[in-house]
Amino acid sequence: MVTDGSQTMTKTGQPLVQMEGIYRSFVKDRQVIPVLQDINLEVGENEILCLVGESGCGKTTTGKIIAGLLEPSRGVMRVADRAIGDYRGREKALLRRQLQIVHQDPFASLNPAHTIGDILSFPLKRHRMTEGGAALKRRIWELLTMVDLTPPGDMVNKYPHQLSGGQRQRVSIARALTVQPRLIVADEAVSMVDVSIRITLLKMLLRLRQELGLTIVFITHDLALAKYFAWEGRIAVMYLGRIVEIGRTPDVIAHPAHPYTRALLAAVPEADPELTRHKQTIALRSDDIPRLTDIPPGCAFHPRCPFFAAGTCDAHTPHLKAAPGWDQQVACLLVQQGAL
Ligand code: SF4
Repeated sequence: MVTDGSQTMTKTGQPLVQMEGIYRSFVKDRQVIPVLQDINLEVGENEILCLVGESGCGKTTTGKIIAGLLEPSRGVMRVADRAIGDYRGREKALLRRQLQIVHQDPFASLNPAHTIGDILSFPLKRHRMTEGGAALKRRIWELLTMVDLTPPGDMVNKYPHQLSGGQRQRVSIARALTVQPRLIVADEAVSMVDVSIRITLLKMLLRLRQELGLTIVFITHDLALAKYFAWEGRIAVMYLGRIVEIGRTPDVIAHPAHPYTRALLAAVPEADPELTRHKQTIALRSDDIPRLTDIPPGCAFHPRCPFFAAGTCDAHTPHLKAAPGWDQQVACLLVQQGAL
């Protein structure tokens, strides 16, 4: 049951979000573009789940569906054990509040004409999260402190252009927190800030997750970042609209099962000794990513896969499932047959 304020949405241990057989397509120039295919995914309460993959793999579309910004074309999306379509009226409004997204570009998502105080006060007022001017000011001070924008008195009258990229992203996160969300989708949320401050932003998100009991869906193209951020969570690797591997982060990093995950790991720069230790040299058959309008038959990775088996990989579509000898679920026919 969805409730207001700080109460939980589900019984402890129940998945907060369940995606069942989700498909999503867009139409462009009269052509149907299948962006997501057969996504089955659960996100637990207080969990960190990283969606990793190259651009165009469908991770942002998945994040937008989780945050309620997009509807699936087919399939069922459940929150707190109820299909999204079953939420009505006040419950639907509460649900919207509790699923928030932080975008990649804080400069584009913050209104340049508004001060930081205005940016935070609008959702607080609109959703009646505080009562009276003094409580509103207290809450804005509290939110700025939570995201380490201190002293709040120095920040509240500034405009977005007067802040650094990292500070702007902290404002975006504070704005998402105004409505007391249960889940935040962080879509490439640190990729536009300097490398030197990425880690402090990630540490802050981890602290907020701990303090507020947040569930975080973290979207990134960077496996090294996913490893750092979601070491206690799970990684789902996506390729051309499908999840091809999902499992606990240490399992995926130490023993990547899917050839595509192995290739991603092989492409991580040498600076991370943990990742380097588990690296294999993978020579892809092709560097070209097929177009979504022309997805290869069978396994969509087969034109690039170094382990391609003719007659198998181009004839049958692998579905995500447990594979013998592996702790994670994998969508690879040869791994599932124990041949890899
Ligand atoms: Fe490679 Fe075949 Fe596995 Fe696809 S099914 S990842 S082509 S080995």
